Amino acid sequence: MADPILQSTLTCPHCGARMVETMPLDACVFFHECRGCGVLLQPKPGDCCVFCSHGDIACPPIQQHGSCCARQAA
Ligand SMILES: [Zn+2]
Repeated sequence: MADPILQSTLTCPHCGARMVETMPLDACVFFHECRGCGVLLQPKPGDCCVFCSHGDIACPPIQQHGSCCARQAA
């Protein structure tokens, strides 16, 4: 299995700013403040983290198992 990609480019849905951020391997990022407009990015309903909703690369748990912390319980 390939190592997960740890950098994702977040795109702010409000101002369109793009931010390259490093994702943690073992945690989900629920909130991320936009560097452009300061809005607090949040996951869309059903998504586990801001990277899955607004990033171009899904978070590491999704890359490796296809599931994430928010979905494991089901
Ligand atoms: Zn923004």
